[in-house]
Amino acid sequence: MKGRITKYIDDRGFGFIKGSDEIDRFFHIKDVKSELKPEVGNSVEFTPSKNDKGEAARDVFIQPKVTESCGLCGSLMVARKGSHSYFLGCSSYPKCKGTKPLTNIEKPPKLKTVVLISCTGEQRPGRWKATELYESNSFNENLACAKILSDEVYILSSAKGLIELDTEVENYNVDQSAKTDKELDVWGAMVAEQMKEQGIDVDNSDFIILAWRHFYKPLLKYIKFYELPFYKVSPQDKSSKLKELLKERGV
Ligand SMILES: [Zn+2]
Repeated sequence: MKGRITKYIDDRGFGFIKGSDEIDRFFHIKDVKSELKPEVGNSVEFTPSKNDKGEAARDVFIQPKVTESCGLCGSLMVARKGSHSYFLGCSSYPKCKGTKPLTNIEKPPKLKTVVLISCTGEQRPGRWKATELYESNSFNENLACAKILSDEVYILSSAKGLIELDTEVENYNVDQSAKTDKELDVWGAMVAEQMKEQGIDVDNSDFIILAWRHFYKPLLKYIKFYELPFYKVSPQDKSSKLKELLKERGV
């Protein structure tokens, strides 16, 4: 059944949906099947059900606000329900049979992309602008890719936390992978604080983290939408992963 969210209490994780039959139904966040955060006004599809308190909705799918157009004919795409999952289909169906997977767009529209890249131990001696201090090929490769992906790029420094590309930094020797879990937690909390100071909206930004696990793992509890392109990628496959990432995004 189709409907609309009429009430949602974020901190308690439940709300109400008015169905196309005008009946108000209770839903809980655990019944939401998409990654989108429920908001009042969202169009939804759901399965009507009953619980001990009355009318309820389960398998709630929040319709993403689709802004993608069809690759075949240029018409706007709409979210459709398939037999096992949801996908984007051309709004000119059945005239046009264009489809796209929905997985990448189950996010609120207009998220700002923030790319985080990690520092490297290969540094020039002395004090330099961050982009000049780090001198490994790998760092420069990540930086070049990050700049293509977003205007908003920051470096995750094992010593200083979050730094801007042109921040002047003194050569340091801190191995992120040698830190204990507790030290990584402290580092993550520092970066979270620095993100706030930079005015990064952690709940409404799409983070792409071009860094290994010791850098991204301590941050995940502070951010909501993220991609980890290096997840389970070996260092020797990193370059091709970056190329793939750019290709996926049409750049
Ligand atoms: Zn089409």
